[in-house]
Amino acid sequence: MRGLAKTSRSQGAMELVERDRPEPAPDEALIEVDYAGLCGSDAGIYEFESAFERMELPTIIGHEYSGRVVEVGDAVTKFSVGDRVVERPIRGCGDCYQCEIGESNVCQNAVITGVDHNGAYEPYIAVPEDALHPVPDSVEQQHAAMVEPTSIGARAVIQNSRVRAGTRVLVEGPGPIGLLTAQVARAQGAEVVVSGVGQDAEYRLPLAEELGFETLNIADDDLDAVRDELTDGVGYDVVFDTTGHPSGLPSAVDEVRKGGQIVLVGQTGETTMPYSPLVRAEIDLQCSYASKYEDFENALRLIDTGDVDAETFIDDRFSLLEADEAFETFIEGGTCKPVFDVSVLRD
Ligand SMILES: [Zn+2]
Ligand SMILES: [Zn+2]
Repeated sequence: MRGLAKTSRSQGAMELVERDRPEPAPDEALIEVDYAGLCGSDAGIYEFESAFERMELPTIIGHEYSGRVVEVGDAVTKFSVGDRVVERPIRGCGDCYQCEIGESNVCQNAVITGVDHNGAYEPYIAVPEDALHPVPDSVEQQHAAMVEPTSIGARAVIQNSRVRAGTRVLVEGPGPIGLLTAQVARAQGAEVVVSGVGQDAEYRLPLAEELGFETLNIADDDLDAVRDELTDGVGYDVVFDTTGHPSGLPSAVDEVRKGGQIVLVGQTGETTMPYSPLVRAEIDLQCSYASKYEDFENALRLIDTGDVDAETFIDDRFSLLEADEAFETFIEGGTCKPVFDVSVLRD
């Protein structure tokens, strides 16, 4: 079998390498991977951004996937052969203060599948049973590959925002996390607008429209005029910054109403801005990072009900046999959520 690995500390450098099928440890299940998504952090590894310098290479990447249990270690009690599963890829250590108080998403020693150890862009992966999550029969296997990114949006909206019925929401950034966050916010009863930049006009903003959202292109539209029209001159109650760009936070400050909330989801890098206006407007600045068990449960249910529209959202045009094409297209904004059929790597 083969796997797609990051092989050197430079831009690109993703190669198919020969791999042996892993042996599960006593507490692990061996998963046959069916579908795996491409995420912004995978693109970050492709570009080899500084956040990934800690990686030991080669490492098989991929952390959002669905599969089936094909073998279990002797100590595994919760899963058996044939179960369909997804993985919670950010693993807390279980011992640090945050893990002890139930904040495993901000564990001091967290490790991430597909970054700190081999991931799911290969046909088999051995996973501790505590990191696995069962998939209900009613959720299709390809759709289940979207559970992990959906859980990020579910946490941002359900756990970390003030969104409720009637809330006026702006989601900045029509990337995968942005469009999932938008769908979860709508499921909570919010009125949601999605904004993007020039290159998003090709694929991501049209996808947002297909998903039923009003959209703004900050390169073309007069944001002040649109905000005044949509919010009666008040500003949005909640703004989610999912851009991962330094302009995301300052522009959220322009768009949010006094007394409103900004939720930072994307990792925006460095920015300099005056903070007094935030204090004087009593803006609630909230961060949301990763996800936990409950967020995975919520994500599965949102996909199951169709509130998160996996069918429309998933882009299955790409192959792991020509993965560079998927990465380059993703980086240019020409796709949003590529999901690969991993079975092509089995022989
Ligand atoms: Zn991801
Ligand atoms: Zn920990």
